[in-house]
Amino acid sequence: MSTLLIKNIAVLVTMDATRREIENGGMFIEDGFIKKVGKTDELPESADKVLDLKDHLVMPGLVNTHHHFYQTLTRVVPAAQDANLFNWLKTLYPIWARMTPEHIYISTKTALAELALSGCTTASDHLYLFPNGSSLDDEIRAAREMGVRLHASRGSMSLGESKGGLPPDSVVDDEEFILKDSQRLIETYHDAQPGSMVQIVLAPCSPFSVTGELMRESAKLAREYGVQLHTHLAETEDEVEFTKEKFGFRPLGYMQELDWVGEDVWFAHSIYINDEERHVYADTGCGVAHCPSSNMRLASGIAPIREYMQLGVKVGIGVDGSASNDGSHLLEEARQAMMLARVRAGIEGASLSGSDTAPIMTARQALELATRGGAEVLGRTDIGSLEAGKCADFIAFNMNDLSYAGAQHDPVSAVVFCHPKNVDYTYVHGKPVVEKGELVNLDLQNHIRKHNQLANNLIEGSR
Ligand SMILES: [Zn+2]
Repeated sequence: MSTLLIKNIAVLVTMDATRREIENGGMFIEDGFIKKVGKTDELPESADKVLDLKDHLVMPGLVNTHHHFYQTLTRVVPAAQDANLFNWLKTLYPIWARMTPEHIYISTKTALAELALSGCTTASDHLYLFPNGSSLDDEIRAAREMGVRLHASRGSMSLGESKGGLPPDSVVDDEEFILKDSQRLIETYHDAQPGSMVQIVLAPCSPFSVTGELMRESAKLAREYGVQLHTHLAETEDEVEFTKEKFGFRPLGYMQELDWVGEDVWFAHSIYINDEERHVYADTGCGVAHCPSSNMRLASGIAPIREYMQLGVKVGIGVDGSASNDGSHLLEEARQAMMLARVRAGIEGASLSGSDTAPIMTARQALELATRGGAEVLGRTDIGSLEAGKCADFIAFNMNDLSYAGAQHDPVSAVVFCHPKNVDYTYVHGKPVVEKGELVNLDLQNHIRKHNQLANNLIEGSR
């Protein structure tokens, strides 16, 4: 058994049921699980490893609920910089079609490096193109080497242009193969135990890139094995028009028709979900991955997040793919969520007195979405808060940083309101992934060089 003691924490944000914030706090950890949380003087005095986090704020590791790691290879592609979703996709599909297993492996590490440095300890990813022999295995191997928990979504596209879908036929796959590969991945990797490092999710890409039949069959398979379901939904008005015209339903109605609602389903974006449909989310337990930067970047719209929260809908934060953000800074994304909710409140004419926070999102609420909220969306009860029995997934910020100068009266809110900085420590299951601001499991400079070479090859092939 190995033990770890974290002591002298200036402020320990637990995110437990009563949202305790403990001054001069600490945690005692055994084999990656938290045994005790409290004041430093209430904890054992020694352990195999002791970390003194004086002057630091410690909080649960952030949970990313939506991403496409491979898109770190195609950030800021000029022709896709100023396009809306459908045109952005049509520009990028042919570039992505040239990826190899190495592109998947290297780009996964790039995204996870950015995520870990910005406080993420559990990341969900949605990989839906498998060109040139690529597979989800390449991504899982990279995540294991980085030491970050992964919910790997086996995405898919089967509705090519010739059948009325959006993607070119060259990037869609045969449905029988998709389902077979999904089953293989679940049987090979899915671990549902507490402390699990890898879980598999089935994730047909979107209503405009797969058939209803594949959605139905994927749901059946996922439920046979007890794995979660994920897809993009109601991201743009174009999509609403598409599903109405092609299937005769609004996006959520189409999902209901396909048996794609329930506690085991979460949707990315969910912007064009009307009042009545929000109640369907609340009543059936569907979760939402809110991706504010991507929604702004692609001019998609503003998701009704405060309305979801008021109805008790599960909401987490996602950075979304790095071709539509164009970064993976999860703490920044929590800040964007807070800001964008305020833009929406302003547009709707909410009057803010400073005492009634109902129409807006507070800094603590943004952190809650990024921690507890994300864990709920991913169906995890062992992460998202720091309390006895949970995984020792935590992050630490040194509050003596320039970003926080003058904000010491409320360090918890400062982490969200002030310039989003990188962490000083990220621990996953009691093991360091970032220590003193540096990645433990990656030679970053060499890695960036390699990533840029691969990215250049991809883009040059399109010239
Ligand atoms: Zn996405």
